[in-house]
Amino acid sequence: MAKVLILGGGFGGVVAAERLAKQLGEEHQITLISRSRHFIFYPALVRLAFGKCERADVSFDLRHAMLDRRVNFIEAEVARIDPVARKVTIAHGEVEGSLPFDFLIFALGRRLATERITGFFEHAHHLLNVDKAIQFGKAISNFHEGRAVIGQCQGARLPIPVYETAFALARRLEKRGERQRVRITVVGPDGSGSQLGAEADHALNKALAAHDIELLSDFPIETITRNSASTNQGDNINFDLLMLMPPFRGSSVASYMGITDAAEYVNVDSSMAVIGHERIYAVGDCVNFDGPKMGHMAVRQGEVAAANLAAEIDEREPVSHYSHEMKLVIDQPWGDSIYVHKDIETEEPGTVRQGRFWSWAKRAQEKYWELSHF
Ligand SMILES: Cc1cc2nc3c(=O)[nH]c(=O)nc-3n(C[C@H](O)[C@H](O)[C@H](O)COP(=O)(O)OP(=O)(O)OC[C@H]3O[C@@H](n4cnc5c(N)ncnc54)[C@H](O)[C@@H]3O)c2cc1C
Repeated sequence: MAKVLILGGGFGGVVAAERLAKQLGEEHQITLISRSRHFIFYPALVRLAFGKCERADVSFDLRHAMLDRRVNFIEAEVARIDPVARKVTIAHGEVEGSLPFDFLIFALGRRLATERITGFFEHAHHLLNVDKAIQFGKAISNFHEGRAVIGQCQGARLPIPVYETAFALARRLEKRGERQRVRITVVGPDGSGSQLGAEADHALNKALAAHDIELLSDFPIETITRNSASTNQGDNINFDLLMLMPPFRGSSVASYMGITDAAEYVNVDSSMAVIGHERIYAVGDCVNFDGPKMGHMAVRQGEVAAANLAAEIDEREPVSHYSHEMKLVIDQPWGDSIYVHKDIETEEPGTVRQGRFWSWAKRAQEKYWELSHF
C-alpha cells in the first residue's frame, strides 16, 4: 500500500488526484491537501470583475468533488516538506503536526511577490483572487474618466487577463458612452512583447490599435503611489485606475529544498519528476518552465505526473512525457477573440486564429471543466 500526498487544490493538483484515483488500486491511499476547500476557476475572474458571472460560478467545493473520487481531502496550510524523512509539516488546519508520504505531488502554484513593488499592496488592483476581482469590478463601476493603466510587472507570467481587461474596459466605456473620456494604456515590463510569441503579438497589437488602446511595452513599474506609477529610471505614468499583474515567484514551501531556480520554481524533467529527489513530482505554476503560466499546462502536467507516479508504484519506467506548448484564447468583446497555439520548446511559428467562435469555445471549455469535475 502506498501513501500518496498531493499538495495544492488548483488545476494541477485536482487533475493529478482525479487521474490517480482512476489509475491506482483501492489499496493505495490518495490525500489532497489545500489551504482552502474552494477550487478557483481563475480564467473566469476577468468576467467576474466585469459582472458577467457571479462568485458562485467561479468557485467549487473541492471536498465534495474529491470524496466522489475516493480522494481524502484535508483543508490545511502546508509549511515544510522533508524529502528524506518523507513527511509534510502542516502549519495549521484540519490536521496538525506532520503527515508521512511514500510519493508526493507538489502543486502549490505561484506566490505573488507584491512586496517587490513599492506601493503595490496599497494602490494597485489585481485579479489573482476572487475578492480582489470583485473589488476591481467595483472600481470599474465608479470609473468614468481619466487614464486607466493595465499591465504586468517584471516577473509576472500572465498576459491573458491583462489584454482581456483592456478590451473589456474599452467595450464597457463604449457602451456607457464614456470611451472618449478615458485613455487606456497597457504596460509591459521589458519590451519583449506579450510572452505569447510574435504571431500573437501581431494580432494583439492590431486589436489594441483598432480600439485606441495605447501600448507601452517597456515600462517596468517599480514604485506606485496613489495616482502614479514609476520605473527605476524615473519615468512616470499617472493613472486614475490601475490593474497590474504582480511579480510571480515559485511557492516558498519549496525554496529551501535545493530543488528550485533563483525565482523559486521547482526543477522537473519531462516526466514531471523533481530533479534531485526521488518519489516527488511537481506540476503547474510552481514548476520551472519558460513562458507564461497557464491552467491548461497545469492540467497536462497533472496528467503526466499521475501516469508516471502510477507506473513508479508498479515499478515500471515513466510512461508519459510533457511537451511545453501554449493553447489559449484571449476574449475580445467585439466578437473577434484571438486563439493562439504555440510550441514553446521548438520556437516554431505559432498558429493564430480570430473570430467569435473562440470566445464561445472558451466558455464551452469552462462549462466542460465545471461539469466534469464538480
Ligand atoms: C485572472 C486570471 C486569468 C487566467 N486566465 C487563464 C486562461 O485564460 N487560460 C489559462 O490557461 N490560464 C489562465 N490563467 C492561469 C491559470 O489559472 C493558472 O495557470 C492555474 O491556476 C495554475 O494551476 P496550479 O494548480 O498550478 O495553481 P493554482 O491554481 O494556483 O493552485 C494552487 C493551490 O495550492 C494552494 N496552496 C498554495 N500554497 C499552499 C500552502 N502553503 N498550503 C496549502 N495549500 C496551498 C492554493 O490555495 C491553490 O488551491 C489565469 C489566471 C488568472 C489569475
